[in-house]
Amino acid sequence: MKHLIPYLQDDQKAADYLRQLRWPDGITCPRCGSDAVEPRERCANGLQRFNCLACAVRLGQQFAMCTDWTSAIFEESKVSPLEWLLVMGLWQLQLNATAIAAAADIQERTAQRCINVLDGGIYETYHLDPTRQLDHQVETDECYQSAGSKGLAREVARREREPRQRGLQLRGRATAEMGRPPLLGLVQRRDKTDPDAPAAQVSLEVLEHVRTATIKPIIAAKVKVGAQFFTDEYNIDHFTEADYDHRTVNHGAGEYARRDPDGTGVHCNTMEGLWSSLRNFLDRFRGISQRFLHLRVARYEFLHNHGHLHWRQTFEATLRSIFSTTGDYLRRMAHQHRRMPLTLCYR
Ligand SMILES: [Zn+2]
Repeated sequence: MKHLIPYLQDDQKAADYLRQLRWPDGITCPRCGSDAVEPRERCANGLQRFNCLACAVRLGQQFAMCTDWTSAIFEESKVSPLEWLLVMGLWQLQLNATAIAAAADIQERTAQRCINVLDGGIYETYHLDPTRQLDHQVETDECYQSAGSKGLAREVARREREPRQRGLQLRGRATAEMGRPPLLGLVQRRDKTDPDAPAAQVSLEVLEHVRTATIKPIIAAKVKVGAQFFTDEYNIDHFTEADYDHRTVNHGAGEYARRDPDGTGVHCNTMEGLWSSLRNFLDRFRGISQRFLHLRVARYEFLHNHGHLHWRQTFEATLRSIFSTTGDYLRRMAHQHRRMPLTLCYR
């Protein structure tokens, strides 16, 4: 986080840094895209105001004002630019809301909202990005994550039944409704022959249940045709199509890894290792709710896939991602769960 220090002196410096990352090639109007913008006086929180001449003409007004954060995910927040910068640095360290609140000296509730905004922005722009596909050697596996369902509709139905079983990683066909949503993991192995190769690229999907009809379209969307595809025998029923060079190990028969005659290592060890790393991360969010599980998982996915980069490069990649979303996904989510501290509405 050291590189942030010069920008953490005051809100103006923080706002200037954020603006430079939002518009590396010069400021354009967030509403119409015109570069005919003139700077005006700053807001009280250090944000720069702009007058867009094109919008003013279009609207028949003398001025058409916008700020550094117009149409950005931060627009409705009362958190200052300096605080946002600090929170984003701490977010990248994989901290939970309690730790971020303590380190940034803000209210825990505010920290909670901030991480939901950041995780949600990453979910919308990075996780849902259809152009991000895995290739070459791809392993897949499933695991189950205990997650509560406080406030969800099905909670009412569950009250009539046995309390859900707690405990981690129980194999078997658990479902979200049972309090253990399955996760589908796909990972493209890191190319060990190339020292500059990026980290193993992972794609993680939180599911309602494990059914072939649910899983097949995800794999088809995420894994390029022709890739080598490694699974456990246990999962074989999902992958009967001939789109991949599909090879299995049979965990049930005690086979965990083997080398095929063509030299290919057949195993799912990369994905197995990722599960324990993911679990270690999710354990920081004690009593994680199903409502937020996919957001936390998206943060893990993003940070893991940028793990080969310098801290600063990852920070700037995060911001580019965050600035490319309008927060529509979060607004929809907030609309569904009106009372949750998820919303962008700080008023
Ligand atoms: Zn404009």
